[in-house]
Amino acid sequence: MNSDIKKILIDENTLKERIRELGGILTQEYKDRNPIVLCVLKGAFIFMADLVKEMDCPLQIDFMAVSSYNGTHTSGEVKIVKDLDASLEGRDILIVEDILDTGLTLSFLKKSFEHRGARSIRICTLLLKDRADRESCNFVTADYVGFTVPDEFVVGYGLDYNERYRNLPYIGVLKEEVYS
Ligand code: 5GP
Repeated sequence: MNSDIKKILIDENTLKERIRELGGILTQEYKDRNPIVLCVLKGAFIFMADLVKEMDCPLQIDFMAVSSYNGTHTSGEVKIVKDLDASLEGRDILIVEDILDTGLTLSFLKKSFEHRGARSIRICTLLLKDRADRESCNFVTADYVGFTVPDEFVVGYGLDYNERYRNLPYIGVLKEEVYS
C-alpha cells in the first residue's frame, strides 16, 4: 500500500465485481439506444474505461473536463475546461462521474445538456459521498451508484489530490498529514 494512504476503502477486486454488475444493468438499460457515454475528466477516466468494457451494446464515448476543486475543497464554481465533441440533440446521455459530493458539478452538467436537446440524461457515479447534509445538498441525484463512501477525502482509481494518486488501483483515504 502507498505510504501516504491511511486505509484502503475499496480494493481492486471489489471495484471490479461491482463494475461488472453495473455494466450488466447498463447493458439492459441501453441496448438499442446507442447512448453517448460521457466521461467527466479527469477523475472518471479509469472507471469509464472499465465500465464500457462491461457494457455489451453499441455506444459512443466522449469526454468533458470540468473543474470545481482546489486541493481538498470545492471552489463552489464549476468551469468547463474541455467541452465534448458530439452533438447531444436527440441522444441518450450517460454521464460517468468519479464521485458525487455536493452534486454541484453534475447539476451544472445536467442543466447544460438539457439546453442542448438531449433525449435523456442519466448519471452513473462510482462513489457517492455520505454527507451529513445530503438532504440539503439537493442539486442532483445519481441514477446508478457504485459505492457509498464516508465523508472523507478519497483518492485512487482516477481520483487525485493535487494531481497525484490517480494511478492507485484502489480507493483509499489519505493521511491527514499529507494535506494539512
Ligand atoms: P461536487 O460538485 O459533487 O461537490 O464534487 C464533485 C467533484 O469534486 C468530483 O468530480 C471530484 O473531482 C471532486 N471531489 C469531491 N470529493 C472528492 C474526494 O473525496 N476526493 C477527490 N479526489 N475528489 C473529490
